[in-house]
Amino acid sequence: MDVIVGAGVVGLSIAWRLARDGRPVTVVDPAPATGASHAAAGMLAPVSEVTYTEGPLLRLGVASLRRWPSFAADLAADAGLAAADSGFTPAGPDSGTFGGRAGPGFTPAGTDGGFGISAQARAGLDLRADGTLDVAFGADDLAALDELAAYMDKLGLRVERLTGRECRRLEPMLAPSVRGGLLAPGDAWVDPRRVTAALLAALDRLGVPLVRARAGGLLREGDRVTGVRLAYPGDAEPGGPPELGADRVILAAGVWSTELADVPVRPVKGQIMRLRSPQPLLSRCVRGTVHGSPVYLVPRGDGELVVGATQEELGFDTRVTAGGLYELLRDARELVPGVTELEVADVVAGLRPGTPDNLPLIGPSGTPGLFLATGHHRGGVLLAPLTAALVSGAVAADTADTAGGAAMPAVPGAAVPSVPGAAGGAAGTVGGSTEADGSGRSVADAVLGDEGELADLCSPERFREIS
Ligand SMILES: Cc1cc2nc3c(=O)[nH]c(=O)nc-3n(C[C@H](O)[C@H](O)[C@H](O)COP(=O)(O)OP(=O)(O)OC[C@H]3O[C@@H](n4cnc5c(N)ncnc54)[C@H](O)[C@@H]3O)c2cc1C
Repeated sequence: MDVIVGAGVVGLSIAWRLARDGRPVTVVDPAPATGASHAAAGMLAPVSEVTYTEGPLLRLGVASLRRWPSFAADLAADAGLAAADSGFTPAGPDSGTFGGRAGPGFTPAGTDGGFGISAQARAGLDLRADGTLDVAFGADDLAALDELAAYMDKLGLRVERLTGRECRRLEPMLAPSVRGGLLAPGDAWVDPRRVTAALLAALDRLGVPLVRARAGGLLREGDRVTGVRLAYPGDAEPGGPPELGADRVILAAGVWSTELADVPVRPVKGQIMRLRSPQPLLSRCVRGTVHGSPVYLVPRGDGELVVGATQEELGFDTRVTAGGLYELLRDARELVPGVTELEVADVVAGLRPGTPDNLPLIGPSGTPGLFLATGHHRGGVLLAPLTAALVSGAVAADTADTAGGAAMPAVPGAAVPSVPGAAGGAAGTVGGSTEADGSGRSVADAVLGDEGELADLCSPERFREIS
């Protein structure tokens, strides 16, 4: 049996994937789905979030985004979500006051741009693929967008440069001062709270045990990790087992992974708020840079608008501060003046698990029996399907190794089993690239490389000091 420590979006996705592979797993967490995954906005936006120095992260993000449609469809089915039980009407061309006012040549909101979202995933997880609009106010911002557009073009990732008027035709609630924008039509988003709830429901239906306890330490035999010591919160399950033996421990405790292993992960605080609106105010994600800080707005299908997020290096501090909320609202109002009219539904601060190179740590730790799936920083929701697939491959390889066989190739450095729909499939336009290079692969496919290369990018072995 494998034990997964941590029931955030990463640990739960891995548990679900391994259970689907037919492997016995147990999940350990004193407070499932309350960490960073509870705070996350849920943007699946590798293209609009790219920076010039983060090419490897872009590759991981686009590869994972391609997995989202089939991941979400399977999850919705396993969790028993129905297409009609969501209680809201998603924004779209014919569904709301502001939805779907797309100009000619643009992908209209609500059509999912060829992403291939199942009705259950759309309704139950609020998964949508109507793109991200990055807006600019001044000449410097506009020049930066032009540069970014050229960079995207070089990578074969489609973006559309828009004038201020075109931006407002897409999103009529934008401020009149918006002078231009960059539309990444392949970007998507999802409601992470619905995703973790669905993962918990799917695991329950698959009979996967969830132990509501803290993993207080690793059990070892020689140099091998053989399980976890358990600490129960308060009086909960006082009679529960003090230890859990495991063939493998998969450490997916987000920023708290440092309590159990010497991993280079640090907390990056993010404050975020949810505003309630009777009508959807936007039909796609909108972002921009105001007073030098990035701010984004993510619409939910039920009319909620997520405004995020601060980035603060303050250790394990999860206080919501007046200053943090003030800055978010001040900056969001520059993009969409109407936000100040909305009711505040929720404010929260979460801790992103940051790493020195902003890439996650996924795979064998170097210590036998201990696997890592942590350090997902700003992209754990986006990267959950890819992470689950890479860990599944690594576990299969380890099983074959332990049994003395060589049926499965080792990770990192070799191909790992792929998830259904992972290779292109329904998501051919995800990331926005449709062009082909000389070899017949799309340009984005060439940028991506195969799964073995992706596993190498996030292999924990790049940090030798992990123990
Ligand atoms: C404000 C904000 C906005 C974000 N927006 C986005 C976004 O738009 N898109 C995106 O992709 N990502 C986003 N992120 C990042 C994303 O939230 C994280 O990368 C992701 O949630 C990490 O998931 P995780 O499962 O590794 O960690 P977490 O969700 O933090 O889960 C860790 C779990 O481990 C448990 N745990 C801790 N210690 C122990 C222990 N000793 N034993 C057992 N269990 C333990 C905790 O209870 C918790 O449930 C955002 C983050 C923040 C804070």
